[in-house]
Amino acid sequence: MRAAALVAVTALALVSPCAGPSALGATSAKPFDGARAMTHVRRIAAYGPRVQGGTAERKALGYAANQLKSWGYAVRWQTVTLPGGRTSRNIYAERRGRSADVVLLGAHIDSKYPSPGANDNATGASVLLELARDVASMTPEPTLRFVLFGAEEMSGRTDENAHHYGSRQYVAALSPAARQRIAAMVSVDMVGYGTVFNVRSMRRGPQTAVRSLQAYGSSVGRPLVFRLDSGASGWSDHEPFELAGIPAAWVQWRSDPAIHTARDTAAHIQSARVTATGRLLRGWLLSLDAADLDALRP
Ligand SMILES: [Zn+2]
Repeated sequence: MRAAALVAVTALALVSPCAGPSALGATSAKPFDGARAMTHVRRIAAYGPRVQGGTAERKALGYAANQLKSWGYAVRWQTVTLPGGRTSRNIYAERRGRSADVVLLGAHIDSKYPSPGANDNATGASVLLELARDVASMTPEPTLRFVLFGAEEMSGRTDENAHHYGSRQYVAALSPAARQRIAAMVSVDMVGYGTVFNVRSMRRGPQTAVRSLQAYGSSVGRPLVFRLDSGASGWSDHEPFELAGIPAAWVQWRSDPAIHTARDTAAHIQSARVTATGRLLRGWLLSLDAADLDALRP
């Protein structure tokens, strides 16, 4: 990111609540609005436990799709095959940038029974939705793709590899050229509770996205602490991207004692964490110039 552009974007994000014409030649009525994001958190959590392939997951995906359509996005659906012949779905939408290079933001919308999954992961899904609204009339440098994944959580109790169905099948369906166009992927997963803001990876793929996020965070006084994702098959949707050689990272606030319990309700979410995550990602996405996208490539 060029220093001048970075300063301009940062000033826009942090100082001006009603941004006028931005340094990027586009406008947004209001930069990332934490209150709007929290409305999505409450709506998605209210569907209850969103078990993969179940009715509540499908309703939450429908809600997200309708929101995206209301901001002018064309929403696409992808069927996800689950064990036992059931199906889940991913949905995705894109804001074209000046470059065909894609920065992909992903968040799973399912939750682990019996949890209503407010933090895990209505928060990540809601940050994606509010970012999508925010940039709907912008033309950033990268093309921004927003993907809501189904079926991230483990389907069984013991097989730690039985998860990430939506994201794995998304990556598997990419053509080599489509895979090549993804300059970076960020999984936004559990961003509404905790004291430490982490950026994570399995350290088994390119680390350029991790480093780019860390550099941006430090430059705006929001440092991201690296924490290894030590799961044998990872613990979020960055896993299949990272293993496919795509620069990938997971952003997460830690730690939440309510994970995967009925206590993970909207009432326990720390909205300031959701807002901080959205603003960090917004600033990072809009700071990326052509040279930064080149630098992300492994
Ligand atoms: Zn999660």
